[in-house]
Amino acid sequence: MKKAIFVDRDGTLLKEPADEQIDALEKVEFVPGAISALKALTGLGYELVMASNQDGLGTPAFPEETFWPAQNLLLKTLEGEGVHFDDILIDRSFPEDNSPCRKPRTGMFGKYLDGSYDLAACWVIGDRETDLQLAANLGARGLQLGPLSWADIAGTIRDSTAGSAPSSANKKADSVGTIRDSSAGSAPSFANKKADAPSGALPAARSAVVERKTAETDIYVRVDLDGKGPSGVDTGLKFLDHMLIQLIHHGGIGLELRCKGDLEVDEHHTMEDVAIALGEALRRALGDKRGIDRYGFALPMDESRALVLLDFGGRAELVWDVQFTREYVGDVPTEMFHHFFKSLSNAMQANLYVQARGENNHHLAESVFKAFARTLKQAVRRNVFSYDLPSSKGLL
Ligand SMILES: [Mg+2]
Repeated sequence: MKKAIFVDRDGTLLKEPADEQIDALEKVEFVPGAISALKALTGLGYELVMASNQDGLGTPAFPEETFWPAQNLLLKTLEGEGVHFDDILIDRSFPEDNSPCRKPRTGMFGKYLDGSYDLAACWVIGDRETDLQLAANLGARGLQLGPLSWADIAGTIRDSTAGSAPSSANKKADSVGTIRDSSAGSAPSFANKKADAPSGALPAARSAVVERKTAETDIYVRVDLDGKGPSGVDTGLKFLDHMLIQLIHHGGIGLELRCKGDLEVDEHHTMEDVAIALGEALRRALGDKRGIDRYGFALPMDESRALVLLDFGGRAELVWDVQFTREYVGDVPTEMFHHFFKSLSNAMQANLYVQARGENNHHLAESVFKAFARTLKQAVRRNVFSYDLPSSKGLL
């Protein structure tokens, strides 16, 4: 079945003037990001359809000859960027005519309603509530410019075609910095799921929730790569909390992580399982990894320095070159940092190279986590206008 993207014109492709009528070339001004986004949406198998209400077009209030120069400039400009409309639907009625063809009514969408289009796979893009209403009336999905940027919109549609759910989001959040009570007990032993998606037109979430429960640890992790949602860390190990909070501050991610581990035995299971659950959540939140890249970051911290290189290439290797001179930092055994990053690398399916030098063991550990956080921030940043996989193999 065919599928289409229906795009509103005024206020969506072109800025809407105060009098809401683009009847002169001087009034032609593109909405920033519109051309790049439409370009990014070509080649995905959608027909592109412009659907516009032009109140009173062809009447003395809006003569044809004042409309077409602006419309033709719009079309020629987009053609020059490789963006071609398969169809252009224009309703010319006034609101008070109550025409069945005036958006958000669907009268002019007849050919798209004959069963040859998979409307549930179609999108409506517009700047008004009525555009979302049109989407609902068509049985399509709506994306509203304003609450969303054109980059959000392009990313959402591209994600939907890449197989990941076009949903956003964030679990209904408690206040920032708090951790909700565990719902353990009924939790499956190892459950992974996308965070709950609220209704409405929101950009694709790059988030994941991992709940992992064993006889040794009970862990809840929610990661949002774009920093949305509440954040808070409580692993039972104060120094590990201090390190993981660096991922929020320096990595720009949203991270809710709580762990109830068998600290009465020792720190090992908690450190290892937190790394496994966190790595799994990061890997799931990344989805198919389109638009991301491979990165590294080095930073100094007082007398210490750390270098972290990261490649989400689907293989897990850790090169660890960090030597601690104390057995413990705070309540964490220093030997466990190696094991933490090894477990993290395995669970993320990422190659990690970590090298650090320094005198003060607290600084040494913190510089590693900060450098990792900065590297992660760069590595997961997504460019929806350059949406290729960063691999010549076509798979990461
Ligand atoms: Mg509009």
